[in-house]
Amino acid sequence: MSRRDDRRKDSRRHRKGGADVCMDPEAIASHEKHRARELRSTSWWRKKTAAGICHYCGASVPPSELTMDHLIPISRGGTSERYNIVAACKDCNNRKKNLLPAEWDEYLKSIKIRTS
Ligand SMILES: [Zn+2]
Repeated sequence: MSRRDDRRKDSRRHRKGGADVCMDPEAIASHEKHRARELRSTSWWRKKTAAGICHYCGASVPPSELTMDHLIPISRGGTSERYNIVAACKDCNNRKKNLLPAEWDEYLKSIKIRTS
């Protein structure tokens, strides 16, 4: 099903003013956010949240309090494909938003030590 399994890391080309490029970063971002909103109403998402477990810290939270999180943030080239979306508690989601990627990695390491 997934047509793009190649993980493009920093291959984002910034061609300013290129009339042949119709995909500008902002248009892509709003498109992916829209797709994420649509996924929220699918049975796939309901199943994903039914267990009530945060993908990151493993905390048990009511399904209604789980938030949708992109493993690779849209702002960094991530898409709203199902493999890029996880259920996270609000706490983790906020942390991820506010921390630098390196700080977030540190946080993940710290909770892995605690929980496993
Ligand atoms: Zn969490």
